Amino acid sequence: MGKALVLLSGGLDSRLALIIMKELLGKSNVEAVYFILPFEEYSNRKEDVIGFSKEQKVKLHIINCVEGTLLKEYMDIIRNPQFGRGAGLNPCIDCHIFMLQKAKKLARKIKADIIVTGEVVGERPMSQREDILYLIEKQAKLQGKILRPLSAKLLPPTEAENKGLIDRNKLESIRGRQRKRQMELAEKFRISYPNPAGGCSLCYPDFCKKVTPVLKSRKNITAFDIALFTMGRHFENGNIILGKNEKENEALEYTAKKHRKGIIITPDQPGPSALIKSKKYEREAKELIRRHSKHTITGFQLISHRLSKGPY
Ligand code: SF4
Repeated sequence: MGKALVLLSGGLDSRLALIIMKELLGKSNVEAVYFILPFEEYSNRKEDVIGFSKEQKVKLHIINCVEGTLLKEYMDIIRNPQFGRGAGLNPCIDCHIFMLQKAKKLARKIKADIIVTGEVVGERPMSQREDILYLIEKQAKLQGKILRPLSAKLLPPTEAENKGLIDRNKLESIRGRQRKRQMELAEKFRISYPNPAGGCSLCYPDFCKKVTPVLKSRKNITAFDIALFTMGRHFENGNIILGKNEKENEALEYTAKKHRKGIIITPDQPGPSALIKSKKYEREAKELIRRHSKHTITGFQLISHRLSKGPY
């Protein structure tokens, strides 16, 4: 009997892949891994994935790529992808290779001999073309070892099928973007699932406008920078961030407190707050606040959340 490690993103396809593997191998022979990636769009995804794994009684491993060396490695990929980008800064092919390489290590550790993904041939133009699936496998040094239960019958048999660990007849032959068969399966297995996601924030040109100058001007991107990309108007290569409304002012304050970094400047009249990453941006931030407020501002309050001088 084989053991499988399923890459679980939380979307319908990977949920189905996990259930199919459970049906084939039994729940005690299936574990899942979820990657927290820096530019995920959907904020409750982690909780959803944890909930789903509990419901399915499958052990879940979480790999956090928003801190430490994994963040650095991932940011290097975004800066210099080997296999190009999609519509924005999204290096989808390299991103898949990255995740599979990490999954390979984990599979070795938990003694899983099959790595499983919910990929569907032709579903995504950049990373799920048949030739790209082979390229990704080759680059991750996992040729013949990745089982894609939803499209397996369209692809050459994997090692697991050749060894008789998996009954190929029980696998699917889904191709393309239509999700009709996936919905039938979701109904059959009685599972709920989130709306299909369009990728991560890196796919959106407006978001990339905030990220690009920071990538160009800074060598080390931290979890703090990542959190700030999702809020406010950015100036000076992302070193000054202005809240666009009350909610964003609060979000800036919250982020500074949480990461113990940055300085918050608040005006004495209604208007945007600013988060600055260094004291040297104080004058300019105050000017920007004045320019973006409808009221006459006469004073400011500064709150430093920095624990130490740190990188800023
Ligand atoms: S959309 Fe983003 S998270 Fe998804 S594969 Fe592409 S780069 Fe990775």
